[in-house]
Amino acid sequence: MKAALYYKNNPKLIIQDVPIEDPQDHEVQVKVMACGICGSDLHLLHGFLKPVKDPIIPGHEAAGIIEKVGKNVQSLKKGDRVVISAGTSCGKCEFCLSHRENLCEEVGVLGFNRDGAFAQFINIPQSNVAKLPDEIPFEEGAILADAVSTPFHAIKYVGNLQKNQNVLIVGCGGLGIHAIKISRALEANQIYAFDIDEGSLENAKKAGATSVYNSKNLKDIIKKIQKEIKFSLILDFTGNYDFVEPLIRLLNSGGKYIMVGLSRKELILKIPSLMVFRSLCLCGSYGSDSRALPDLIDLYQKGKLNLKDSISGIAPLDKINDCFEILEKRVGNPIRFVVKPNE
Ligand SMILES: [Zn+2]
Ligand SMILES: [Zn+2]
Repeated sequence: MKAALYYKNNPKLIIQDVPIEDPQDHEVQVKVMACGICGSDLHLLHGFLKPVKDPIIPGHEAAGIIEKVGKNVQSLKKGDRVVISAGTSCGKCEFCLSHRENLCEEVGVLGFNRDGAFAQFINIPQSNVAKLPDEIPFEEGAILADAVSTPFHAIKYVGNLQKNQNVLIVGCGGLGIHAIKISRALEANQIYAFDIDEGSLENAKKAGATSVYNSKNLKDIIKKIQKEIKFSLILDFTGNYDFVEPLIRLLNSGGKYIMVGLSRKELILKIPSLMVFRSLCLCGSYGSDSRALPDLIDLYQKGKLNLKDSISGIAPLDKINDCFEILEKRVGNPIRFVVKPNE
């Protein structure tokens, strides 16, 4: 089969013919119809994130059609449309058995811990797939796996967003934009969005943000908005801890500041008394779990989640390096690119 491989220290993926084995007893083989390109794939190419093997097939946002099933697979059959969840886990621990796979000690990401979906086919444990209804196109189904489910996990299961609460989204890239769409789908009241890129702020407005601000002038913005609003949730997708201390003061009592973006910086906070007096919560949210895909598919089917304009471009696998370049240079403010390995 055709696949795009990452070799250590090579910033471009190599398209190659590689063998694909039959799925193991608990696995299914999926013919990949669409796979989204994520910011963390760029981190991989730049050597910031290290995969477990060399070379590896990246790609962790995929949807497709079941091609083969292992001996112990009963609930899925050849021809089923599916979306593949991005996270991998042991499948046996207390977290895995209670739909909190992202907390598993062996948690990993497809395309980093095992071969991913920038390929015509992928073998994957049956517990990693959810059925995709006919009305959801493969491209939109694919991005449910990470770009949509990661912010959904943070907002719904960690943040427990309630109707009519106010939300602030910091960082409006691929995840942040979907955090805005999800906040809207869950009927938040005011949805504020911060970014330093004007194009991303345009995207944020289109996605449903009620107010957008360029956070280059953070001090001035805080001065202005602290008189008009408090937030129940602040979601930080930047991975830049500089926002935590100034913004945590914009939380309503009982509010939560949720860090979703990955960072390698150290966080030093100087406001412990405020945290206690106002019962604030500073927490992280990593990836997603198996509750998210069915819940998201339900929101989609109710017409509350529009993902059509999240797909900025579709390309065959051979053009994957061109997509990376466009994403890197942010030509035309792309949200998500999707490759189609079988076209
Ligand atoms: Zn990702
Ligand atoms: Zn586990």
